[in-house]
Amino acid sequence: MNPTIDLESPSMLKKQNYPVSTKMLIDGELVASESGAELVSTDPADESELGRVPAATAADVNRAVAAAERAQPEWARIGPVARGAYLRKLAAALRERADEVLELEVRDTGNTITKMAADVGQAADTMDYFAGLATELKGETIPASSEHLHLTLREPYGVVGRIVPFNHPIKFAAHAISAPLIAGNTVVVKPPEQSPLSAALLGELCRDILPAGCVNILTGNGMPTGDAIVRHPSIKRIAFTGSVPTGRAIQMAAAESGVKNVTLELGGKNPLIAFPDMDPAKIAEVGLAGMNFSWQGQSCGSTSRLLLHEDIHDEVVERLLEAVARIRVGHPLDPASQMGPLNSRRHYERVQSMIAKGNEEGARLRFGGQRPPGKEFERGYWLQPTVFSDVEAGMTLAREEIFGPVLSIFKWRTEEEAFDLANSTEYGLTASIWTNDIKTAMRAVRRVKSGYIWVNGASGHFYGTPFGGMKSSGIGREEGLGELLSYTETKTVHFMGAFA
Ligand code: NAD
Repeated sequence: MNPTIDLESPSMLKKQNYPVSTKMLIDGELVASESGAELVSTDPADESELGRVPAATAADVNRAVAAAERAQPEWARIGPVARGAYLRKLAAALRERADEVLELEVRDTGNTITKMAADVGQAADTMDYFAGLATELKGETIPASSEHLHLTLREPYGVVGRIVPFNHPIKFAAHAISAPLIAGNTVVVKPPEQSPLSAALLGELCRDILPAGCVNILTGNGMPTGDAIVRHPSIKRIAFTGSVPTGRAIQMAAAESGVKNVTLELGGKNPLIAFPDMDPAKIAEVGLAGMNFSWQGQSCGSTSRLLLHEDIHDEVVERLLEAVARIRVGHPLDPASQMGPLNSRRHYERVQSMIAKGNEEGARLRFGGQRPPGKEFERGYWLQPTVFSDVEAGMTLAREEIFGPVLSIFKWRTEEEAFDLANSTEYGLTASIWTNDIKTAMRAVRRVKSGYIWVNGASGHFYGTPFGGMKSSGIGREEGLGELLSYTETKTVHFMGAFA
């Protein structure tokens, strides 16, 4: 799939089709909020209004969950192969509208078109991937005794609640429905309030393809919409992707409202450890790529801490600064742009406050930290790619996730120091290790407390391999068979005695 946007088309650039007004999906119908309330979505490139979406109330959540409960028994009854066929049809329909989704997503998130094009394809690929796993919902037979037959069955929870963040809206929404549906659950999804527009398009496709009530998509803020989903008594299984503070709030709300199974995909402050046997030019290149400046650093797996051995430190920094100065910041719809604006005003201000803290606490600002010069950057949430060196373990830059285009560089001398630094935050999502020595790599893999480690690589995700965090970065693993099975409960059965 190769989506294209015609940048020469004046209609595209003039935004004549905006602002848009969208609806949300409840019980197979696209509807407004029962209160009539709406949220405004803003274009991060110029702060103009892009569209309005319904702000779902607790009453909307109740309606959506009731619809999902009604739809679930029949959805479970049709069996995994039929459910897979539905999901494949949805994936194909999404691919057909890829160009349309892409434009919405690029405008609504500020992510560049070159990067975002892959997201739309991956949204459809994820549906196909889980559809392909449909017949893997197997139980076990267990030789627990010689007289009886002992076996397990996997059963769906019923209605699953999923809440997703702003950086990959369509990809995460597609992911959010895939595994729970294949496992025989119905789903209530809450897209991010900052970039909610593509959710309506997914809603339209689900309305046209799936039985009513199987997927319900509720736009709205964390409070009250997300909270009402978490607290709903009929939702026992919740999966959340977002920040650590929200993850903890969700755990508390879930515990207050019932006995619930909550999995969490949370933030990261991920280390890239470069050993002295590496070529400094290569480390400068991968240090830049792993930081995901091309997503404005708004990627949970970004290696935002670059841990350099003292022998290669100076040369890597010099080369990296040359390369960072060449990053082309520009309108996200321009295929030549390598970095767009940050996603929202609130997030932009938070990232700026972290840069200010870096300066106050004595880290050395080596590049960026400002709004880029030029008329086109006067409005919108624009920031230069930013690099700090001389960052030390106690500093805010070393400890807190920024989720913006801010790279922190550290210098280390001994391996122990490198491992201590790598493990010195509350996070443990990803890590990237660079060395030409397999023994060094093995020691690092064992010592670094992260859930997803690349050796001589960074950033990539691979279907079938479990993704998720240790420490405060989360609970549970996604993107593999384990995720599918996590949407089932085990029922153990003992066949004992003879049948009359
Ligand atoms: P966030 O935690 O602010 O919000 C995420 C979602 O939670 C949004 O839909 C929001 O409306 C909802 N929400 C907020 N408060 C809620 C509440 N009390 N109850 C229920 N729902 C609530 O995160 P964000 O700023 O949108 O996203 C950035 C964060 O997401 C970063 O920390 C990033 O690392 C993390 N992230 C993690 C992964 C991963 O796979 N581990 C992937 C992407 C992003």
